[in-house]
Amino acid sequence: MASDCLFCKIVARELPAQTVYEDEKTLAFLDINPVNPGHTLVIPKKHSTDIFDIDEKNWTAVMDTSRTVAHALEKALQTDGVNIGMNNRAGAGQVIFHAHVHVMPRFKDDPHSLWKGRPYAEGEFAKMGDKLRAALAVQ
Ligand code: AMP
Ligand code: ZN
Repeated sequence: MASDCLFCKIVARELPAQTVYEDEKTLAFLDINPVNPGHTLVIPKKHSTDIFDIDEKNWTAVMDTSRTVAHALEKALQTDGVNIGMNNRAGAGQVIFHAHVHVMPRFKDDPHSLWKGRPYAEGEFAKMGDKLRAALAVQ
């Protein structure tokens, strides 16, 4: 446990939360400022800061729980869909530095928008493919 981490305190029950699911490695609880009611955060119980820091087993567990929560949102709220997102590091808008995945219920015509795409400039699409294939060492 990281001593002044808000989400570690939720895991330790030192702070209140609307916990909706728990298993050996993960906890899921309602976001206090939801994009839509039912917006749930899924966290590893073991402290890690973000996607760059979390180990493979805990990441897999967080993904499994996110899937479980998505099914529960569909069943309980009759969602039209869900967005799953994660902010990693301050540069990406992270404000709580305990890794967490947002599972956000979506309803047809709701005002929430996760992201807006922009097309690549001429020639940049293939160039970016080359750069990332090299980083991933895929032929
Ligand atoms: P971010 O780090 O940008 O992914 O955002 C942190 C998220 O945590 C925000 O959506 C907040 O509304 C949410 N949050 C902050 N404090 C709490 C809390 N005590 N319980 C539940 N959700 C929280
Ligand atoms: Zn923590």
